[in-house]
Order: sequence, then structure tokens, then C-alpha cells
Amino acid sequence: RKGLAATRGGFMARLKAIFTGKKEIDPAILEQMEEVMLTSDVGVKTTQAILERLREGMAKNELSDADAVWAALRAEATRILSIGGPRPAKEKPLVVLMVGVNGVGKTTTIGKLATKWSADGKKVVLAAGDTFRAAAVQQLEVWGKRVGAEVVKGKEGADPGAVAFEATKKANEAGADVLLVDTAGRLHTKVNLMEEIKKVKRTIAKAMDGAPHETLLVLDATTGQNALTQAALFKEALELNGLILTKLDGTAKGGVVLGVCDELKVPVRYIGLGERAEDLREFVAADFVEALFG
Ligand code: GDP
Repeated sequence: RKGLAATRGGFMARLKAIFTGKKEIDPAILEQMEEVMLTSDVGVKTTQAILERLREGMAKNELSDADAVWAALRAEATRILSIGGPRPAKEKPLVVLMVGVNGVGKTTTIGKLATKWSADGKKVVLAAGDTFRAAAVQQLEVWGKRVGAEVVKGKEGADPGAVAFEATKKANEAGADVLLVDTAGRLHTKVNLMEEIKKVKRTIAKAMDGAPHETLLVLDATTGQNALTQAALFKEALELNGLILTKLDGTAKGGVVLGVCDELKVPVRYIGLGERAEDLREFVAADFVEALFG
């Protein structure tokens, strides 16, 4: 909860201020809400859709006072964030492909997930699929050591697909419960990046039927509309099972969570609320809404 303090004090406090001390609703209320939502990264499409529903409610006299509008807004947020989706398969090893552009917190998130699953008694293997950055491999090795997970890596510049193939085979043979595959994220070669990840995916499938079972996209919540653009690109190229929004502790805008969920219709699985291993939270829509709306 602590990690959402900035968004609560920013985005949500600004929204709430519009309603504070009001019983009646005046026409300006929707314009003020629009301003706050747009400047809090909710995104144009989602903001308009939410306001349209509130406008309809007001026209039908279903929302007759400020409290009712606030409650309707909360219901809208809950509806948007409650996208279901198939849960992770009960495969062994469960192969999870982690994608996202450089700097979003992908490696850190892999480390956090490895920590969580290791603590649950699961045998975790990590694949250093970002073979272009020595630093990424080293970072993964630090996490691997910390949680006692084997890290499968290739030589610098090795084919990421080959590393993923090797890791999948190893995880299978070692009877691992989970394999987390890191991937490269150099965005300046957009098309190449997507092709490369697709190739890694195909190679994993060759090593184990049905794998990868999950493709999770990591997004940096502090990048606002950029996160939305990235998400759309990745969704177009890959079948995404879920999203992970990092650095929510580092933004007062937090509305991007609503925007990505609404526009992509891909469920948020986890949120990052800090740099430490314990700062990754499983995303539960009702809890998130409760933390924001109180
Ligand atoms: P990658 O390039 O996507 O693998 O990104 P990294 O995992 O190296 O993370 C980039 C930076 O973001 C690092 O300094 C991380 O500590 C930081 N980071 C990752 N997740 C979070 C988070 O949830 N909150 C905060 N405040 N920082 C984070």
C-alpha cells in the first residue's frame, strides 16, 4: 500500500478534491475530471469512455449527486481492472517468457519473481536471454545466487534462441518448477526486436511442447503514454498473457494502469512498488481500487 502513496496523493487526491464539499453536481465536474485523468496518464480513449458512461448516468438521472458520481467512478475503475484471463498452466516446468524494453525493470522483476517462487519452495531456473548486454547477464546471476536458482547463459552475443532452448531443456531435465526467460529489449530496432522475441518463442516450443506457457510484458508506469504505445506494439506481435507494471512507487500519476487494461484487455498480474525483492505485489483489482479510492 505504501508504494501507492504518491498516486493516492497525486492523481486520486486531485480527483477527490473535485468532489470534496459538493453535494450537487454541476456541469463543470466532468471537465475537471477529464483534466485530472488526462494529466494522470489514464489516456484519451479510456478517459473519454469513462466520462461518457458517467454522462449517460447523469442524463438518466441515475447519478444525482456527487457521492453517486464518485461511486460510479469507482465502479468503472473496478470494471476496467477486473479483466480475467486464463491463469498460469500447471506445467512443470512452467516456462515464462518475460518481455519489455530496456530499463522498464524486467531483470529486477525476474529477480523478484524468482525470490517469491523460491520462497514458496519452487525450483527456479533463469535463462539469460538478453545476450547483448553483459550487464543484464550479470544482474541475473546476482539474483540467481541470492535465491539459489541456476542461471543458464551463453557467450556474449550468443543467439538468444539457443540460450532459451538450452535453458528449457535443462529446466526440464532438472525437474524445475519454473523457468523464467529474460529477453533483449532494445527498442530502437522495433521490428527486429519483435522478430527476435518471436524466434526465441519458437525455439522454446521446439525444446518443450506447449512452452512458453506464459508471456508477460513488463511496463514502466512512470513512462505514461509511452508504456501504452509499447504495450500495443508487443500485443500486436505476441500473445500476451499478462502485464507487470513497475515503478508505481515512482509516479503520482498511476492512471496508466487503467489505460493499459482498458485499451489492451490484458490483465495486470503484478505491480512493482519499489526496488527490493518484496516490493512486487500480485495484482488484485479490488485491492488496488480499495487502495486508491479508500
Ligand atoms: P531492465 O533493463 O528492464 O532489465 O531493467 P532493470 O531491471 O535493470 O531495472 C531498471 C531500474 O529500475 C533499476 O534501477 C531497478 O532497480 C529499477 N526498478 C525496477 N522495478 C522497480 C520498481 O518497482 N520501483 C522502483 N522504484 N524501481 C524499480
